[in-house]
Amino acid sequence: MARRVVVVGAGFHGCSAALRLSNQGYEVTVIDKAYAGRHASGVNAGGVRRLGRHPAEIPLAIAAWERWQDMTSIVGDDCGFRPVGQIKVAENDNDMAILNERERQVQNLGFHHEKLINRDELRKRLPALAGHCPGGLACDGDGFANPYRTVTAWRREAERQGACFREGIEITGIEPKEMAGA
Ligand SMILES: Cc1cc2nc3c(=O)[nH]c(=O)nc-3n(C[C@H](O)[C@H](O)[C@H](O)COP(=O)(O)OP(=O)(O)OC[C@H]3O[C@@H](n4cnc5c(N)ncnc54)[C@H](O)[C@@H]3O)c2cc1C
Repeated sequence: MARRVVVVGAGFHGCSAALRLSNQGYEVTVIDKAYAGRHASGVNAGGVRRLGRHPAEIPLAIAAWERWQDMTSIVGDDCGFRPVGQIKVAENDNDMAILNERERQVQNLGFHHEKLINRDELRKRLPALAGHCPGGLACDGDGFANPYRTVTAWRREAERQGACFREGIEITGIEPKEMAGA
């Protein structure tokens, strides 16, 4: 008999857990007090970013970014991912020194996804930017996705794998119980 799991919350984490657990043969029910993607997962800036991550997060951010390259093979939808790049902009020489140090730190750790760009390159990439900005730190290949579409795609794939979604139900407490044979 399949083991049963209840996931509380149909944000991105709940949908992702539901998909993984369903793939592993669990019988999954996801419960949300509103609806899938109603809260933070569906209404954020949609950033898909390795740029500026804490050093401890960089390997995970790179692994996630690699999966974004072929999201369609995971959930049947590219989730609106557009790798247009991301840039941290320096507003003055002090900011530029901080970005310079950041690039050095990341490279010393063996990563090469963040690159310092000068004033001319910054202007070329962002022509509308104020003229006083001396440069920036760019991460080509980063970009954005459509967050609500992302949650929906993961939810749909979890459903295809057998997960059941129940919306409009609030969990108000959890009561631990001994299970026979557990
Ligand atoms: C494509 C994508 C891009 C992103 N880009 C950015 C970005 O650029 N910047 C940024 O800051 N963040 C970004 N994020 C992260 C996002 O802002 C959230 O931090 C993240 O998605 C949180 O997910 P979650 O599932 O933990 O929480 P939530 O999305 O908040 O989901 C929690 C769910 O639990 C439900 N719930 C809560 N309590 C109960 C209860 N008692 N009973 C039943 N249901 C309950 C809620 O209704 C909600 O639907 C991104 C996320 C995605 C998917």
